[in-house]
Amino acid sequence: MTSFINELHLKTIVIATQNEKKRVEIKEILKDVPGILLRGIEDFPFLPEIKEDGNTFRENAIKKATILTKACNTWAMADDSGLEIDTLKGRPGIYSSRYAGADATDKKNIEKVLSELRGIPKERRTARFICSIALASPNQLFFVVEGRCDGFITNEPRGINGFGYDPIFYVPDYGKTLAELNPSIKNRISHRAKALEQFKERIIPLIQRI
Ligand code: IMP
Repeated sequence: MTSFINELHLKTIVIATQNEKKRVEIKEILKDVPGILLRGIEDFPFLPEIKEDGNTFRENAIKKATILTKACNTWAMADDSGLEIDTLKGRPGIYSSRYAGADATDKKNIEKVLSELRGIPKERRTARFICSIALASPNQLFFVVEGRCDGFITNEPRGINGFGYDPIFYVPDYGKTLAELNPSIKNRISHRAKALEQFKERIIPLIQRI
């Protein structure tokens, strides 16, 4: 009962991602923001399917947040993220999750990237993860923030933590791939962590005003 009454004072925000690992990262980073209650989309049945057909991470994040906030009738935050590799002219980019095709898996996506980069020397394997996060209510888009994490693509996968392209993303400051780093370190330095830091700075005054 007490926790129910406490929850009445909180602003519910639905996190628009199917990716459980991302949701865990987001909840961990935002756990000390006062006045909010983060919910997953599994708490909201009958949601519309959203086609991620924007040309940028930002457009996709805005589209997901603005559709979901109306469907759930509560605030919604949505992220869109991916890997940009310079020598591939920014690919896989907005196609990161399905780079290897309709039946893509993390393993197949990694294999495709590594085969496209075969023979390319280290100094030309520069890449970055980008993450855009949008926050919307049913009547307005509040803001969009963007974070990035720079590194290099390795010649082979290394490490078992994280997800997606983490095993082939080398972070020079740590001399390790993101999948070799302790998740608590990834949660400080990742594109998502940096976007979420800005998200925190923007949402705290917003929550205080309502
Ligand atoms: P999204 O769910 O549409 O944002 O898909 C982003 C895709 O980019 C994921 O499926 C991963 O392949 C990749 N990606 C995004 N963030 C990360 C990360 O932190 N580590 C590794 N891969 C990531």
